[in-house]
Amino acid sequence: MTATIERHEFQAEAKQLLDLMIHSVYSNKDIFLRELISNASDAIDKRRVLSLSDEKIGFPADPEIRIETDPENRTVSIIDSGVGMSRSEVVEYVGTLAKSGTKEFLAQLKESREAPSAELIGQFGVGFYSAFLVADRVDLTTRRAGEEHATRWQSSGDGTYTLAEAERDEVGTTITLHLKKVDEEDGIADYTQEWKIREIVKQYSDFVTYPVRMDVERTEGTGDEQKTVQTTETLNSMKAIWARSPEDVTEEEYTEFYKHVSHDWTEPLTHIRYHAEGTLEYTMLLYIPSSAPYDLFHFHHRRGVNLYVKRIFIMDDCEDLVPTHLRFVKGVVDSEDLSLNISREILQQDRQIKAMRKQLEKKVLSELDKMKREDSDKFGTFWKEFGKVLKEGIMDTMGASENAEKILSLCLFESTHSETESTSLSDYVSRMRPGQDKIYYVTGESRALLESSPQLEAYKAKGYEVLLLTDTVDEIWTGAFPPKYQEHEFESVAKGAGELGTEDERKKEEEALEEKKKTFASLLEAAQKHLEDDVKDVRLSKRLTESPACLVGDENDMTPQMEQILKSMGRDPGKQKRILELNPDHPVMKTLQSIFEKDPNDPRIADYAQLVYGQAVLAEGGKLENPAKFTKLLTDLLAKAL
Ligand code: ADP
Repeated sequence: MTATIERHEFQAEAKQLLDLMIHSVYSNKDIFLRELISNASDAIDKRRVLSLSDEKIGFPADPEIRIETDPENRTVSIIDSGVGMSRSEVVEYVGTLAKSGTKEFLAQLKESREAPSAELIGQFGVGFYSAFLVADRVDLTTRRAGEEHATRWQSSGDGTYTLAEAERDEVGTTITLHLKKVDEEDGIADYTQEWKIREIVKQYSDFVTYPVRMDVERTEGTGDEQKTVQTTETLNSMKAIWARSPEDVTEEEYTEFYKHVSHDWTEPLTHIRYHAEGTLEYTMLLYIPSSAPYDLFHFHHRRGVNLYVKRIFIMDDCEDLVPTHLRFVKGVVDSEDLSLNISREILQQDRQIKAMRKQLEKKVLSELDKMKREDSDKFGTFWKEFGKVLKEGIMDTMGASENAEKILSLCLFESTHSETESTSLSDYVSRMRPGQDKIYYVTGESRALLESSPQLEAYKAKGYEVLLLTDTVDEIWTGAFPPKYQEHEFESVAKGAGELGTEDERKKEEEALEEKKKTFASLLEAAQKHLEDDVKDVRLSKRLTESPACLVGDENDMTPQMEQILKSMGRDPGKQKRILELNPDHPVMKTLQSIFEKDPNDPRIADYAQLVYGQAVLAEGGKLENPAKFTKLLTDLLAKAL
């Protein structure tokens, strides 16, 4: 009986990615083996974990990854005793790209219109498909633990693949690569050579916890007694990197291990090693990547810290070990004390896990602090890629988080001090004006918009530095109960009273304003009535020097950006009324006042109040509720003026 063979098309994204791989300029082709060994090792891990809760799965006494070469037929096979895949899993994992964000990634590639760089491909970590770097045909035969039959998948990387039922004696996966011609110039070595396989395994996969074995021929004896014997050799030391003494591990080894755990092909920025002894004993080997994965802000972004107990893999992506604002951290935590049977469900309450999580955060933050002090370029890269995520940790559900100040001291912000360089808070504080005790900031969509916002005028005129915060997360940590930095409160230039200067100066300003308040009192009241539906108060401003008006909020009011965030989350924050501040020294105000003095019921007062309010909304990049009405008022006014 011959098995029926079905031909399938790759899902469009998978095909695109495959094409990328095949035609890529990726020069280091040897890494295909690292990828396939990594997958094999993951599959054995997975089988071990599943076998604990399902006796049908079973776990072999001697799990292994085997490499077989056939120089005559020019093939190399990677054979594992892992969990295997069912037919539908083959379709899902190998025929489709189950990864979230693939579409976005490819769209991004298209947009850039440049040939994809090795970096970019590396960032995506196309794993299994890297087989096509060196092979023009790949056969995969796999039998899923708990199933009788196997599935055979074949493809020449040409947009289609075939599926057929197959037999495999044992559970596990065999991947056979029909190798391309050796082409040293193109980086394709002879992968049927024992020494080459040996070299690659040693270089990239030495730490894999299961034996990577190969049958090798050895000559024994001398002279006439010489004969060739076949023996099986284990090519890797299987020693966990984090269990070796630190001085014995080279930077290259750390980097290779990073690529293994993270499935990321780019180099990490740095690694952190920590060993705790005492009431709890555990080891951490953590990495900070050099570029953000495309799915960092996806809801289902996988956190990359794996949990081990006494060198035995327990689970990948152990969320409870990593606070969300450190979700970019990759690596391993290996506990000496946890039970081997620990399950995801009980992790959350586990006291030891909590303690390790706390320590993990402490270590990562202090490493970042060190990086910031010692290597500002490196830290700059980190900040560009992950700053937004880190800032999420300033607040927790209770308000300022325990580490708020530590995180704030790592933050780099744009500010009015420099167009090109961002500032740390300690530098900001060192530049504070005499008598200044608050850190001023403004939040909004872009630097350009913020720089020209009317709320900033007096601060600029009086020489106060203002932080220009443009990340969504900035709205959140500066929101309801912002933290302090070195006892300095944060104050939005668009909130509160806008008190600037020394006590003396403030007093003088206050006195001058009192006078003006008397002059404008009735006009303000009238304007307030006309704008009743839009603002909660109309008052004179201390923060304007050029513009006639701006909108501000009370200390605890929601900013318009926060309003937008809530709306985008499908929540209705209700109508948020703000305060309209008017510039008493602006000619518009003087004209209005004189119209008002002649006739307090002049209908123009209402129209002009609307116009002034509308332009204050526009000036801060806001949206008018009724643009048509605003435009009509403006056109009428223009017509009269011309
Ligand atoms: P990644 O390993 O980054 O998830 P891959 O493209 O390398 O991406 O693999 C996709 C999926 O295919 C894996 O997540 C795994 O579920 C499955 N897979 C790959 N190789 C094997 C294998 N040897 N045994 C079992 N499953 C595998």
